[in-house]
Amino acid sequence: ILILAIESSCDETAAAVVKNGRIVLSNVISSQIALHTLYGGVVPEIASRKHIEKINQVIKEALKEADVTLEEIDAIGVTYGPGLVGALLVGVAEAKAISYAAKKPLVGVHHIEGHISANFIEHKDLEPPFLCLIVSGGHTHLVIVKDYGKYEIIGRTHDDAAGEAFDKVARAIGLGYPGGPKVDKLAREGNKYAISFPRANIADSPYDFSFSGVKSAVLNHLNSCEMKKEEINRADIAASFQEAVVDALVTKTMTAAKDLKLSKVAMAGGVAANSALREAMGAECAKRGITLYYPSPIFCTDNAAMIGAAAYYEFINGTRHGLDLNAVPNLKIGQR
Ligand code: ATP
Ligand code: MG
Ligand code: FE
Repeated sequence: ILILAIESSCDETAAAVVKNGRIVLSNVISSQIALHTLYGGVVPEIASRKHIEKINQVIKEALKEADVTLEEIDAIGVTYGPGLVGALLVGVAEAKAISYAAKKPLVGVHHIEGHISANFIEHKDLEPPFLCLIVSGGHTHLVIVKDYGKYEIIGRTHDDAAGEAFDKVARAIGLGYPGGPKVDKLAREGNKYAISFPRANIADSPYDFSFSGVKSAVLNHLNSCEMKKEEINRADIAASFQEAVVDALVTKTMTAAKDLKLSKVAMAGGVAANSALREAMGAECAKRGITLYYPSPIFCTDNAAMIGAAAYYEFINGTRHGLDLNAVPNLKIGQR
């Protein structure tokens, strides 16, 4: 089964050809990061316009790189939510047009289910059930992947997403957008024990997260350094902030894995590319005999290969969308 997958939920215009859900024949990503950097974050209107400019070229490249024709494709997979409505609409409209013109079935995919499915690409042995920690720019969830396409959310953030916290702290210490990879890099030069930032625990919700407190603590630290005219050590702040976030993510994930007796843990989303998180989660999983899975960095951040992986399992489970498929900016996990 060959899926042509399209992703345009945020600031990456992406298309991929994926075989049987796990073999990536092509993975083309046109990133708008350089453009949005000028504004310190994603500007929705600019993102939509850029998607329109790029999408045809990106799809053509994906087919060419995979060396397949549109006729050989079995289905079109497309992200239809969650995300920026104007950005999503570009991919959805394109997918519908191709589906109609080429007479191919259409399969709408949930962006976060795509992030989770990125794990299937490089881990041919990974099969549900497993626990998945989703840490992306807009979401932080603990999910039980019960079966392909079957999810149960057991934990979520009460405020900022992990990636959002990275981006906001990066901005505060002058690293610019997108902050995650820059904090990751700078933290390697700092002392993670230099400053003790808070780890929020939510009463009666052991699997829930909160990152606004640690973000505020970083801002307070910066203010107090300025007031006292103390020197600001950005590397120490980056390392200590990252340690607080990683500690919370690892602790809650390990608690859930233990409580639910799950011996496989996966990570997904942009922050799953974080080197300190990979290392700490790896060490804790090893201690407990848990097998840890995470995608290569290129499959952690937004891409269409992950959408192709998710679309494949939806397709073989019988999911089909009509030409009335619309963008759903607040689409829920598991919603069809
Ligand atoms: P969502 O998937 O929730 O809609 P998104 O698509 O914008 O949001 P992703 O593409 O999954 O998010 O990931 C982008 C986020 O990952 C950004 O917040 C970015 O700062 C963060 N990120 C990327 N690499 C790293 C890293 N090495 N360390 C920490 N954070 C990172
Ligand atoms: Mg992005
Ligand atoms: Fe994403």
